[in-house]
Amino acid sequence: MTKKPPAAPNGLLGSSILYYVRKEDHPVTFVAPDYAYDMKTVESLLGRGGRIISEQQSGSDCWWFEYGGVRNTIADAQDIAFELKRMVMGVWNYIKNSGKFDADCSTLEWVGSLPGKRESRRMATEYMLAGEDVRSHTQFADGGFYGGWYMDFHPAEGIGSAEDSCIQIPVNVYSVPLRCLYHRDFPNLLFAGRDIGTQRDAFVSTRVMNTCALSGQAAAALAWGCLRWDAAPAELAPEQIETIRQTLLREDMFLPGAVNRDAADLARDAAVTASSRYSPPAQPGPGSFDLALGGVHCQPLPGGCRGGVPGLVCGTRPAAGGVVHLAAAQPALSGAAGRGTELGTVRRRKPADCPIPFPGGGTVWYAGIRPCAGYRPSAGGKPVAGCALQPG
Ligand SMILES: Cc1cc2nc3c(=O)[nH]c(=O)nc-3n(C[C@H](O)[C@H](O)[C@H](O)COP(=O)(O)OP(=O)(O)OC[C@H]3O[C@@H](n4cnc5c(N)ncnc54)[C@H](O)[C@@H]3O)c2cc1C
Repeated sequence: MTKKPPAAPNGLLGSSILYYVRKEDHPVTFVAPDYAYDMKTVESLLGRGGRIISEQQSGSDCWWFEYGGVRNTIADAQDIAFELKRMVMGVWNYIKNSGKFDADCSTLEWVGSLPGKRESRRMATEYMLAGEDVRSHTQFADGGFYGGWYMDFHPAEGIGSAEDSCIQIPVNVYSVPLRCLYHRDFPNLLFAGRDIGTQRDAFVSTRVMNTCALSGQAAAALAWGCLRWDAAPAELAPEQIETIRQTLLREDMFLPGAVNRDAADLARDAAVTASSRYSPPAQPGPGSFDLALGGVHCQPLPGGCRGGVPGLVCGTRPAAGGVVHLAAAQPALSGAAGRGTELGTVRRRKPADCPIPFPGGGTVWYAGIRPCAGYRPSAGGKPVAGCALQPG
């Protein structure tokens, strides 16, 4: 399914304040502070764009409690923080006191005081990575690290938007040039992290922690090169840039399209031999595998599933509102359900909030992107598949 990026935004990605919830073995009361959103306001914000709350949400499950993208995220940071606190307290009050949730014994363990800010200013660098570079994975002679997270757009209105809480457009692994880390007018300054030089539709992919971390490693290697040749970043010759890239490769950086030319790297001439062999049992095919393996495969339609295998879940996530069909069923659990049975509608793209009742018992938890670290076998209404994915 090809998704289009949203129209050019008037705002930025918003900020979020997270909270943690703990379950006690006794009832706990919650009295909302007077600044909290009232229940009517909370109700008016929910349900749109797949925004659904539950008493089990905690920590980064609440990433979509988002506000501030239509404000000045720097100058108005304090107002944004306060609005987010009003929202969090109002939502928790709604969960505790509306009578609609099983939350008598749940208590707020922690509420953040500073909002997590997703987007503010970025630097104008020697080269500004463009959305097109991300989409078509442009090769750069000075590629110094890589990214690969979705183009992850959130509506600037955050929780106040009726749109989906995020639109994630999958991209292939792409290269980011060292020129995104400096500008020739500031020869003694390197950037690393989300402030690197990107156009906005590239930023929505590069802003994630792994990519930020890799930019730090690339900046360190670049700084090493500048010291070694006593030159500013923009003065480095192509051979020197290539030496920096070879150094990065040697130190385990992945550089899309780069060739390892390290003469001292014995791995280049090594041959692999095996002292023994292991043949795994044949993988069960569709319709025959045991659900204890996590063997439910939710197939988003239309478009089909790419790379889904028993025990894993699809790499493609349908938008909220997409229909999930059963692609393969274990008869013992599925009862009358067969391949193609319509299981339900994806209310949100967040697995924790998207249980889909499974005909014959159990619950399919629609999950996406990654194989789950901890598949949980089915047992009376418990998830048969889960996923650790946390969009940001
Ligand atoms: C709510 C939210 C959810 C997110 N979810 C995800 C997710 O699931 N996965 C993901 O990969 N990314 C996620 N992100 C994005 C990601 O966390 C950030 O983009 C990333 O951490 C940015 O890293 P950074 O090093 O550039 O900046 P930061 O992590 O902001 O680090 C900057 C540091 O500099 C310090 N600092 C600032 N000024 C000074 C100063 N003058 N002197 C000394 N120190 C200073 C700050 O205190 C801070 O520690 C999320 C972001 C938010 C806000």
